[in-house]
Amino acid sequence: MPYLVRENLFISNIGDAAEVLQNGSEEITHLLSVLSSASISFFTEWRNSISIPTKEIRKVYAGSLRPEDGSGDNSKSALSPEKLLYSLEYAGKDLKFVRMAVAIKDTESENLLDYLDVCLDFIDQSRKEGGVLVHCFAGVSRSAAIITAYLMKTEQLSQEDALEALRESCESVCPNDGFLEQLKMFEEMGFKVDHSSPIYKRFRLKLLGDSYSSGNKIDNSKFGADPGLPTEEVSSEVGTAVDAVKVSSPAYRCKKCRRVVAVQDNVVDHVPGEGETSFQWHKRRSGNPFNKCDEMECSSIFVEPLRWMTAVEEGASEGKLMCAHCEGRLGYFNWSGIQCSCGSWITPAFQLHKSRVDISTL
Ligand SMILES: [Zn+2]
Ligand SMILES: [Zn+2]
Repeated sequence: MPYLVRENLFISNIGDAAEVLQNGSEEITHLLSVLSSASISFFTEWRNSISIPTKEIRKVYAGSLRPEDGSGDNSKSALSPEKLLYSLEYAGKDLKFVRMAVAIKDTESENLLDYLDVCLDFIDQSRKEGGVLVHCFAGVSRSAAIITAYLMKTEQLSQEDALEALRESCESVCPNDGFLEQLKMFEEMGFKVDHSSPIYKRFRLKLLGDSYSSGNKIDNSKFGADPGLPTEEVSSEVGTAVDAVKVSSPAYRCKKCRRVVAVQDNVVDHVPGEGETSFQWHKRRSGNPFNKCDEMECSSIFVEPLRWMTAVEEGASEGKLMCAHCEGRLGYFNWSGIQCSCGSWITPAFQLHKSRVDISTL
């Protein structure tokens, strides 16, 4: 039997979900399936005597507009644009259930954040129309992480309090550590997935670093647009608003040739002094309290990988970053990280020396 978490909100494992789909339910009208495959045939593979009829409603890919609000700018999503974000279908006995399926693996390095908006919207909408069951394979990690996020957002709870609240309904829940970290980020971003937040940008960069170190080729579709080139689409009303923002936002230019090499939006902030050597640094400071400002000063800015960084695109693990126009040296990159002068380690690191760039407004 699925566990009741809140009015019209249930959690279960795949076995209970299969039973609901096959036999129908008094209370449940919607299902959110979080399995390693979005396909309903997963149920058949799992127990081959099962066959569940379905009728597709739609499939939505990352990067496409979100049909609910039409605005959805997923351009900064860490998911590649061709990745299936979710599929929606009628399923089960007499095709009575509305089922949304998202493919998320239960691993610590899996990107949960990019799915939260669609999952939480679906839960919210389904609860208004009937009852929704959120299930994964074991009903322990993935489904629990999503319901925890939902409780955080709707009841303004910390990650810890929301998980505790969920445990009151279903004792065995235990999201994996990677999901817990991402839920903490969700809390720090104000219960939303804010693509412009330094928290999200660091997360995105870390995923890219994980992907590189596990041997994947990082093609430049994952890189930020080159801010030194004219923007492609400026036609819509949205375009003018974006341009207006850009006009007033700081830009970093090559000191030698003045080419724009980064805008503020590309910068991935870090907390000065946070990192492996910050302890040593504190010891040094206590012996010499007068020059702490000098030592805290960061001599570099760190950015996301950008399309002008050809050396990165070629696949090297580290190397010089040269200006695309004058080939002057701007900084260095290293997928295993670089230590900033303030002591912080940035991993992976795409570093521009402040002494090689000028800050101006576009
Ligand atoms: Zn620094
Ligand atoms: Zn230059």
